[in-house]
Amino acid sequence: MNEPDPDTAERKMQFLFALRSRGVTDKRVLAAMEKIDRAPFVRGYFATRAYDDTPLPIACGQTISQPSVVGLMTQALRVGARDTVLEIGTGSGYQAAILSVLARRVYTVDRHSRLVREASELFRELDLTNITSRTVDGSHGLPEQAPFDRILVTAAAEDPPGPLLAQLKIGGIMVLPVGQSDAVQRLIRVTRTETGLDYDELMPVRFVPLLEGLGRDT
Ligand code: SAH
Repeated sequence: MNEPDPDTAERKMQFLFALRSRGVTDKRVLAAMEKIDRAPFVRGYFATRAYDDTPLPIACGQTISQPSVVGLMTQALRVGARDTVLEIGTGSGYQAAILSVLARRVYTVDRHSRLVREASELFRELDLTNITSRTVDGSHGLPEQAPFDRILVTAAAEDPPGPLLAQLKIGGIMVLPVGQSDAVQRLIRVTRTETGLDYDELMPVRFVPLLEGLGRDT
């Protein structure tokens, strides 16, 4: 493998520094984000900005999330090495790739078949063999693989979708943005206990909306 040029190495150091300074302190999460290079997930024109702590446009009018938000969401999810994780909103595949380093198995779904196809090609190239991707409307979850230890939703719903809550194991955790798509949303963490559901509010965020049905690829 080629050594990264000094400029890229410097930018990657700044990338990790930005994550830490925005509150990503979990060592396993930082190590996963050091291991998974964001550049291949940002295609085309914006690839030169892959190490900036900013969301960037991807195909189908969607966005790859801001790295520090990816880090904070992953940290909030408290993923264990034996966990099976469901991600709703594959997008570029970047978040799923990070989860795949931390978990035993990752299922990731998107309503755009093009995004699923491109992300799964990348997973293959990067030898991330524990990720399964599907084109489905993720608001119904993935009943055939349920229940899950962890669920991460990377598109905003007005309320936590009932089918996703139902597919969470006891002791399971779901992290998701909730609120109207044109307003600032709240990132929340839902924990399924023996007796019900506990809710924590984490921070204000801004995500694309969770839409119904399959998308037309653009
Ligand atoms: N996690 C992604 C970023 C996600 S952007 C990454 O790491 O790059 C949000 C994604 O959610 C978009 O790709 C959008 O197509 C998808 N999405 C929106 N509503 C959906 C739904 N109902 N089911 C599945 N995916 C959905």
